[in-house]
Amino acid sequence: MSGNCIADRNGYYGRFGGAYVPEILHKCVTDLQDSYRSIIDSEEFRKEYHELLRDYVGRPSPLYHARRMSAKYGCSLYLKREDLNHTGAHKINNTVGQILMARRMGKTRIIAETGAGQHGVATATVCALMGMRCEIFMGKTDVERQHTNVERMRMLGAEVHPVTTGNMTLSDACSEAIRDWCSHPNDTFYIVGSTMGPHPYPDIVARMQSVISEEIRWQLKEKTGHDYPDYLIACVGGGSNSAGTMYHYADDMRVRMILAEAGGCGIGSGRTAATVHCGTEGILHGARTLVMQTPDGQIEEAFSISAGLDYPGIGPMHAHMVDEGRVKVMAVNDDEAVRAGYELTRLEGIIPALESAHALAVLPKMSFSPDDVVVLTVSGRGDKDVCTYLANRSMAGEYGDF
Ligand SMILES: *Cc1c(COP(=O)(O)O)cnc(C)c1O
Repeated sequence: MSGNCIADRNGYYGRFGGAYVPEILHKCVTDLQDSYRSIIDSEEFRKEYHELLRDYVGRPSPLYHARRMSAKYGCSLYLKREDLNHTGAHKINNTVGQILMARRMGKTRIIAETGAGQHGVATATVCALMGMRCEIFMGKTDVERQHTNVERMRMLGAEVHPVTTGNMTLSDACSEAIRDWCSHPNDTFYIVGSTMGPHPYPDIVARMQSVISEEIRWQLKEKTGHDYPDYLIACVGGGSNSAGTMYHYADDMRVRMILAEAGGCGIGSGRTAATVHCGTEGILHGARTLVMQTPDGQIEEAFSISAGLDYPGIGPMHAHMVDEGRVKVMAVNDDEAVRAGYELTRLEGIIPALESAHALAVLPKMSFSPDDVVVLTVSGRGDKDVCTYLANRSMAGEYGDF
């Protein structure tokens, strides 16, 4: 277990975290706080969860030695292929686990927020699997730019509610989901999609995603003889794929950890989602964390080409790890991400999600030594982003000329 990744009894990572919820949700949240550990640790849960991860999600996901990219960046680069999971991203690791919890807690109705639609699809998928009612909140802007995921959710039987408040993206969808939860506290389980929200959600999601680093350990040992890398790289929106990537290494100081947040048009441009660079301490969606906000506490609109990173906050665990100097966070701009997405496509034949392309764009900013082992998590596949990649190929440098 990794101290950096573990919340204290009240859900704090250092001074970040906690559970700031309206009175009406108090009982739901404390019920969940009181029961989640015993559910997750029970033999019966573990068996069902791991069987589903293997036979339904398709785990373990491969750890792939990317030879052409390694040659280009002068290191040994391994890609953790979360893009090959059922439904195309890491999100399903978490939704499989949370729906098993919901069932054990006797809930009958599931709600979730979604940005790019990956968490909505992953939630609608497990609801179909378990025969449970599913309602998804999604900003209207995202409904438009991630249309195929909306169609998938509808086909899976979910009801999709377009949210028209704020700038109509992920943050507004979260607020709307919390509002719905307040009106249905008894029968509804809120499946949160990232390491955010009130305690115990950041801890639940991190545990569900920790399978990523659990697998990296033995896969790396098999391939390189060592069970740890020199570098871990992942993108960060709310923080779930990076939490899973870092989980079992958080206290292993041999491992350097680099996260890519969405710089949008640039951190000084006013059109950014780079929370670590531009945020200050505040409360967002039930937790004390880093938030992009005006001096008087109004939440600022986030902006990124990638709907999954377009969020004005970051999980409390990550805010703490930044504070401790344990992780280094780089801001990656839209154009850098698009170019990196094209590069992986052309050098390795893998079209990454635009979110994952932010992690790939860290590589040209680094200088590795040739024996460095680098593990980079490809959080999802880019099928949902093909139109955006094509529309923005002028950002792709040498790869955009076709
Ligand atoms: C949702 C999503 C992200 C961002 O969320 P995290 O919780 O930070 O992982 C990144 N990549 C993909 C493919 C996603 O769907």
